[in-house]
Amino acid sequence: MKIVNPATGELIEEVQEDSAATVAKRFEAARAEQPKWAALPLSDRIQCLRKFRSLLEQDMDELAQTLTREMGKPITQARNEIKGTLGRIDYFVEAVADVMAEETVLDDNDTGITEKIQHEPLGVVGNISAWNYPYFVGGNAFFPALLTGNAVLYKPSEFATLTGKAIARLLHQSGVPEAIFSPVIGGGDAGQALLEQPLNGIFFTGSHATGVKVAAAAATKLMRIQLELGGKDPAYLCEDVDIKSTVASVADGAFYNTGQSCCSVERIYVHDRIYKEFTEAFVQEVARYKVGDPNAEDTYIGPLTRPAQLDVLETHVKQAVEGGARLLLGGKRLERKGNYFAPTVLIDVNHKMLVMREESFGPIIGIQKVGKDDEAVRLMNDTEYGLTAAVFTKDADRAKRILSQVRAGSAYWNCSDRVSPRLPWSGRGHSGIGCTLSTYGILAFLQQKAWHLKR
Ligand code: NDP
Repeated sequence: MKIVNPATGELIEEVQEDSAATVAKRFEAARAEQPKWAALPLSDRIQCLRKFRSLLEQDMDELAQTLTREMGKPITQARNEIKGTLGRIDYFVEAVADVMAEETVLDDNDTGITEKIQHEPLGVVGNISAWNYPYFVGGNAFFPALLTGNAVLYKPSEFATLTGKAIARLLHQSGVPEAIFSPVIGGGDAGQALLEQPLNGIFFTGSHATGVKVAAAAATKLMRIQLELGGKDPAYLCEDVDIKSTVASVADGAFYNTGQSCCSVERIYVHDRIYKEFTEAFVQEVARYKVGDPNAEDTYIGPLTRPAQLDVLETHVKQAVEGGARLLLGGKRLERKGNYFAPTVLIDVNHKMLVMREESFGPIIGIQKVGKDDEAVRLMNDTEYGLTAAVFTKDADRAKRILSQVRAGSAYWNCSDRVSPRLPWSGRGHSGIGCTLSTYGILAFLQQKAWHLKR
């Protein structure tokens, strides 16, 4: 498999893909080793993760460069992702003991009956991951999976393969046995080969389209399944906001990671009383973003990771403009090497347009005028997705009222594009099933055994 730099189109290196046979061998090795891993004291597994954390910190610059080279993430944002991962490890390491603790729910002297709940690992789980935040979205699954005593067959996206291999190397150096964290290298075929194995669970992050295929493959095997899928996340700006600070915050929510985040702001609704002022200030803000070499410290927008997404963005712009939208900024590929698309702002959009309906996953945003909160709620809910939703207003009650009516797994008041390890990360509808992070995201890797004990 060829690993290509999306900023230059140059070949970085070729790697050996896993075949169906090598994936099956990895599974067998994991199944043989997993009971030993699960039988270790929790403190030993915690120790491995702590060691991994210190190696991540120590090698941060080199790891960030690898991520930037293979998926084009601007270097400061690559470092931010790795720094954020340290905090996630800290959370999981601190929370896992309480989640796994045995619970006594009845201890009755009269009958001599004791009832206990024990949490056991699932066994061997598959983790098929996206490329846009390989440390975050992979780690959300494999950190708690490993801590709770599972073996993990980890398939990084083909666009984050070198990072996936680096993660595996560092986990092995930290004491996690090779069979317990086994990278499955390759594209969709390797993912399908992984799904052929008699796994005890599959934890997938990626698009809705692939998520449906994963669910279909898992259906006949009755394994635990969790899907973290795409989003078309809205932000609504009420007329009482401070325009300057809100513009900066919402634009960052839309364009950070070159707009390639599951929880990027993908649609903006603005109250008609501030629409003109807001759109002018928004365009000025986005026009300031430095687009270019992702290795440069001051670059904010890099190339798109997947070349195919350039066509998607072009189609979104063309169809919107044909439908009456006004293009205020960008709207086309940049004439330079690499997968660059100019930061794009469309206004006067509506819900017949793809840019307001389908995940764009790039540096492009549509802004629509609304007259009332009810209209904003209706439009925010006019989607199959339901990952996050944001409301900007000085009025806390108003924000709560609006966000309570919006179908989304995360509700943001005066912020967006934010993930916390302490809170559950989940989607509604086409954004997925199950959740990662928080204590619920640890429980996802455990199954409960009921003990009925009679003295
Ligand atoms: P894809 O759905 O294209 O791929 C996801 C993973 O599935 C990749 O590892 C991919 O391999 C693999 N894959 C592809 N085809 C199959 C198959 N038939 N069977 C098994 N595995 C397969 O998504 P992207 O990687 O492009 O990620 C972007 C998407 O992920 C966006 O929709 C984004 O919103 C979503 N996402 C959701 C998050 C959330 O928390 N809700 C977080 C991050 C991203 P390969 O890449 O090698 O083809």
